Amino acid sequence: MSKTLEVVLKRQVDDLPTAADFEVVERPRPTSAPAGQLLVRTLYLSLDPYIGSRLRGRHMGEPRPGPGERLPGSAVGEVIASGHPDFAAGDYVVGEAGWAEYGLVDAKEARKVDPALGVANHLGVLGMPGLTAWAGVTQLAKVGQGDVFTVDAAAGSVGGTAGQIAKILGAKAIGIAGGADKVALVKGRYGFDDAVDYRAEGWVETLKAATDGGPTVHFENVGLPILQPVFGLLKLYGRVVLCGLSAHYHADGPPPQFGLGSIVGKRAQMLGLVVYDFYPRWAEWVATATPWLADGRLVQVADVAPNLAGAPAQFERLMNGANEGKTLVRIAEG
Ligand code: NAP
Repeated sequence: MSKTLEVVLKRQVDDLPTAADFEVVERPRPTSAPAGQLLVRTLYLSLDPYIGSRLRGRHMGEPRPGPGERLPGSAVGEVIASGHPDFAAGDYVVGEAGWAEYGLVDAKEARKVDPALGVANHLGVLGMPGLTAWAGVTQLAKVGQGDVFTVDAAAGSVGGTAGQIAKILGAKAIGIAGGADKVALVKGRYGFDDAVDYRAEGWVETLKAATDGGPTVHFENVGLPILQPVFGLLKLYGRVVLCGLSAHYHADGPPPQFGLGSIVGKRAQMLGLVVYDFYPRWAEWVATATPWLADGRLVQVADVAPNLAGAPAQFERLMNGANEGKTLVRIAEG
């Protein structure tokens, strides 16, 4: 019988996940797709911050995987066998196939994608992180000409895409990122107007100068250590998109506190974002982004582990914030 490799949890995760929490197991490879399912050969697996929260049962009430069970995470791959009339062998889809070489995907949850747009792009810039960036920039903050836009975790998938969209729409885009390499990436590869290293001495003053006194829109991916000082610079009537809280996901203790009086004083809008609300509009984002990708105004930078066995270490890097760009695992050639 043919086999497939799969990465699963070795033990229950109660703290910040590390590579040692996972193991690679060999399973029988499915050879056909039952009704309503697709048998998919995975090309790339997406590793995203929410998976760390899911493993600890702390994400939107969604179930927590136990040791040996299929892990959450989107993958892009080729349909090998279809048990649903809307899909055929040879189609490319994004869906939850486990951290595995071959997996069964529920056809109701699968999204057909165009491989000509770059298979890995469908997990990043055209995938859930890109949709998140588009929703926050265009639907919530309604960024446009004259805006000064700041975003943290700017070297990452959501932040990098958000700044590029803001710039395309006429805003000045300033990134905030951890370390000189990420700052260089944000300016050189994503083409932001400027970027500031929040680990450097005096970074808030540097940001103030780079934003001509302060942003009109701030897109938050990290949490209070960045939000608090940036909010201090926010222009009156500014908008803040609250997207991610990476600095708080694995912290125990009371939830982060933010001064309500400062929001009133700034006449600010705090805009909470959950990308699930925008899933029905995925095709609209892909149609908007396609010409931008074609003319090079929008790019994806990927941080790729070379094979499935490298997934646990790659996930640990993401959990430690060491990733530069969209965190992926290459599982097979497209
Ligand atoms: P990412 O930016 O590629 O990776 C996370 C980055 O966060 C790290 O590279 C690191 O960059 C920064 N970070 C700061 N403090 C951290 C810490 N204590 N632990 C880990 N990372 C830390 O991730 P992404 O996929 O693009 O997502 C960005 C944020 O958006 C995440 O918070 C994610 O949960 C959130 N998100 C929200 C939604 C939604 O619906 N609201 C949807 C998708 C993603 P620096 O070194 O530059 O600080």
